[in-house]
Amino acid sequence: MDDVTIRFDHVSKVYASREQGAAVADLSLDVRAHEVLVLVGPSGCGKSTTLRMANRLVEPTSGRILLEGEDVTRVDPVALRRRIGYVIQNVGLFPHRTVAQNVATVPRLLGWDRRRTGARVEELLDLVGLEPQRYARRYPHELSGGERQRVGVARALATDPPVLLMDEPFGAVDPVGRRRLQEQFARIQRELGTTVMLVTHDIDEAVRMADRVAVLSPGAHVEQLAAPLDVVARPATPAVADLVGRGRVARLLSLGAVQREDLDADDTGAPADGAPRLPLGTELGQALDALLGTDGPVLVTDGEAVVGRLAPQTLVRALARLAAAEPDVVTPVTSPPDHDEAVGTLSR
Ligand code: ADP
Ligand code: MG
Repeated sequence: MDDVTIRFDHVSKVYASREQGAAVADLSLDVRAHEVLVLVGPSGCGKSTTLRMANRLVEPTSGRILLEGEDVTRVDPVALRRRIGYVIQNVGLFPHRTVAQNVATVPRLLGWDRRRTGARVEELLDLVGLEPQRYARRYPHELSGGERQRVGVARALATDPPVLLMDEPFGAVDPVGRRRLQEQFARIQRELGTTVMLVTHDIDEAVRMADRVAVLSPGAHVEQLAAPLDVVARPATPAVADLVGRGRVARLLSLGAVQREDLDADDTGAPADGAPRLPLGTELGQALDALLGTDGPVLVTDGEAVVGRLAPQTLVRALARLAAAEPDVVTPVTSPPDHDEAVGTLSR
């Protein structure tokens, strides 16, 4: 299980005061090393409870949770939380400490010296896009919601934990700011290779952020566990279909890519100098924008070569392909850009 970072093994949680049965009922789930696994589902379905059991803020009633193969109940909770960063919705920054002091919380606990701590704080503030000169000495109330959220992320990353648990981490931010934070966070996560378990009730956030999505229903029952595109294109159960139903086509447009098989062959011979060009692998939504932005043809290229034309029918075919394809044939745009790999998939 080298590639499994967190394993939930038949885990249940019963809150004595809760009357509707187990909050988490017999959950088995693996979080793989270096992936972003997103738990998504309706309010009260057990997402936060699941997350909080991984760092022992909540103790399971039964079952086991393994962190890198080690039973978490055998690890001292304080030591455990050094290995696992935790980011929550309203951040929980210390109000009477500056940004720098907040970020330095865990390094201080670990007894790092002033110099090492200071250097790390600067590095982290840079990483999350907060200029240290401007922000280090401010207090939380002097920040916007989005800035506070960034400080929360910086604080959780301070000692470079291999695992990060995030509970609705961007929830308190306006939609535009949220999008920017999500993108920035995705970049940081790829750079650091952190294993992330993220909880959200927002399916759009889930499909945007995840390598894999676990759709949960009450009791933390796993309805579907798959790549974002699979969840959107081929919901496994009515509950998943219900969650992704509205705006499904828009989501497919942002997750799917133009592939060679969808194209009209460019054999018309009509001159197309100066026509807009898009490479294979372009996000379908961008392709649609390109079509809407011109009266003439849009050409699709593979390196230097023009390989076909984009037509409205191209997009219809691509959407049909996504909805019908087997999971291993699709090339989601969310995977790291890798031209050779994308071309390899096309020629299969
Ligand atoms: P989610 O994060 O998906 O909204 P939670 O894991 O917070 O769901 O909660 C799952 C269920 O357990 C809910 O019905 C919630 O009311 C209940 N619950 C959560 N925490 C406690 C607690 N400390 N005591 C009793 N019931 C709780
Ligand atoms: Mg919750």
